[in-house]
Amino acid sequence: MPPEPSPAQPPAADFHCLRCGRAGAPRLARPPLPGAAGREVQAGICADCWGEWGRAEVMVINELRLNFMDPASQEILNRQMREFLHLPAAAPPPGSPAAPAVPAGPEGSGSPPAGPGAPGGTGGASGDGSH
Ligand SMILES: [Zn+2]
Repeated sequence: MPPEPSPAQPPAADFHCLRCGRAGAPRLARPPLPGAAGREVQAGICADCWGEWGRAEVMVINELRLNFMDPASQEILNRQMREFLHLPAAAPPPGSPAAPAVPAGPEGSGSPPAGPGAPGGTGGASGDGSH
């Protein structure tokens, strides 16, 4: 049975960084960004990986000539950050599981059960159906 994601913060011992995959990696003391994105980063990314992004961010800004005053540039930077940190492209809506439930069909025998009455070739219907 797969473990269900709990809304509560897992203890530090069970923390696995989404990016480096280390168990018990140092966590961020507080959300590094405002809003839901900051909570997402704090919940899934270790302090070391966030520090790496801090350096990569500067290169991305210089390389793509991003302007903080431009909303489109912020969107690009946000996407680059998520890619860098191995975060999912869009935050899942709260309260709903991200993974869809796959219904498990019954894996029975390959052949259907044969009925007791074998289909006969002769038609016993009385009366004419012709028109
Ligand atoms: Zn990490």
